[in-house]
Amino acid sequence: MNNYFLLDQAARRFPDHGAVFRGSDQLLTFAELRSRALRLAAGLRAVGRPGDRVALASENCPEYVELFFGSWAANMAVAPVNAKLHPKEMVQILEDSGASVAFVSAKIIDALADAAKGSPAEACRLVRIGGADYAAMVGEEWKGPIGSDPAELAWLFFTSGTTGRSKGAMLSHRNLNACTFAHLADMEPVDENSSLLHAAPMSHGSGLYIPAYIARAARQVVPASGAYDPAEFLALCESHPGVGAFLAPTMVQRLRLQAESSGARPRNLRSIIYGGAPMYVEELRKSIAVFGQVFIQIYGQGEAPMTITGLRRADHAGDNADVLGSGGYPRLGVEVAVVGEDGAPLPVGEVGEIVCRGDIVMSGYWNNPKATADALKDGWLFTGDMGSFDKKGLLTLRDRSKDVVISGGSNVYPREVEEVLLRHADVAEVCVVGQPHPEWGEIVVAVIVLRDDRQPTPAELDAFCNENIARFKRPKRYLFVDALPKSNYGKVLKRELRQQLDSL
Ligand code: AMP
Repeated sequence: MNNYFLLDQAARRFPDHGAVFRGSDQLLTFAELRSRALRLAAGLRAVGRPGDRVALASENCPEYVELFFGSWAANMAVAPVNAKLHPKEMVQILEDSGASVAFVSAKIIDALADAAKGSPAEACRLVRIGGADYAAMVGEEWKGPIGSDPAELAWLFFTSGTTGRSKGAMLSHRNLNACTFAHLADMEPVDENSSLLHAAPMSHGSGLYIPAYIARAARQVVPASGAYDPAEFLALCESHPGVGAFLAPTMVQRLRLQAESSGARPRNLRSIIYGGAPMYVEELRKSIAVFGQVFIQIYGQGEAPMTITGLRRADHAGDNADVLGSGGYPRLGVEVAVVGEDGAPLPVGEVGEIVCRGDIVMSGYWNNPKATADALKDGWLFTGDMGSFDKKGLLTLRDRSKDVVISGGSNVYPREVEEVLLRHADVAEVCVVGQPHPEWGEIVVAVIVLRDDRQPTPAELDAFCNENIARFKRPKRYLFVDALPKSNYGKVLKRELRQQLDSL
């Protein structure tokens, strides 16, 4: 089914219900949102053809919602661009996607137009979101046919590029349906009294939840700042009913610190969906202590969005460290397995690469048959993540295969060492990476951000590790830094950190 019809159904049933909000202000009802989507669809069809890609380059803004559904009603695919990229990187994505039109925020458009000069991306029509040419595209409602082929491209999902140049995962309407239905069935009983608060980028993590919340006639709330400000987030939880939000783990930590310092306890906060990077057990426990049982974990990737494994709210009760430290159970409609280097499934307890298969899995990378052949084999997506299952089907995620440190022939999973060091009172943040070493192959290096005024010696940290993990896993080097390099989703950029090791 074309995802546009989720909006159509919600608008028939709840035409006067508030659909899109900026901060606490209602901008559009469901009937108005559907009408604007159809008017944009007509504007898009006047300048492009079915199958075209529609690029979006903007910090969070309310127009994302009408642009998604408008593009789908026009039988075009959206290609959102990470708003924090360098203009030259954005141009690369415009070129790669071959988008015929790009909707761009006022903040970005001049630099993007400059960077595109002389490149093939110059042919892409740039439309300033909220500007005069945007208004001109919103004409009469589209009255033509709206195709409903589930295999049609709906979202060209550019990966965050933390492990190399960004690639466009091709997500069809079927893929988006699969993650929408699994979310509503497994995780959240969203209804017309719910609100999706967009704290993470709508171009990626937060945007993936738009169809599920629209399908249930819930509100879309975009903070007036267009950014993530924990104080604003907590205040918005007071103005909207049944709030759910997707947050990367580092965003959860900032929210907890804000709630602890201000004493705010948001009444209407119903779900914090976290994922996209490891959530450490210590942090999760502290956050549950502040916000209660509102946490939902998802494990996925752009290639199988948000829906490989996960933990429901109820799975967080009982304070079981094995469960809290895991990636959860396979999601509805997805087969998940752990395989060895020969591709054969491994027995329970053994660590191998996580693979998955089902309607959630992308059809391939856009214009990149080599990367597609490496990632997809016989319908299985090779995630590049390492993990193991227990008897009950609980998946423990280790690390990405390229992040595993092999020291003296033994595998060391950085997350395990990080979990231990984070329990030390002086450690605020830590990232463990491997550094090439003539004798050991690689050594384990811990790069640490300390809590204010604390100055533990490496020997103290070493003794702490010795009490908690096997000797061979202990870092051989401790480095102290003011901040870790992070992407705009709050993911630590391990590759960058490894490159910086020699100069630290
Ligand atoms: P991206 O495609 O940028 O969303 O990155 C996906 C990657 O983030 C996955 O392949 C995992 O390595 C990591 N990831 C996603 N969800 C989780 C999770 N719940 N716990 C640990 N790592 C995760």
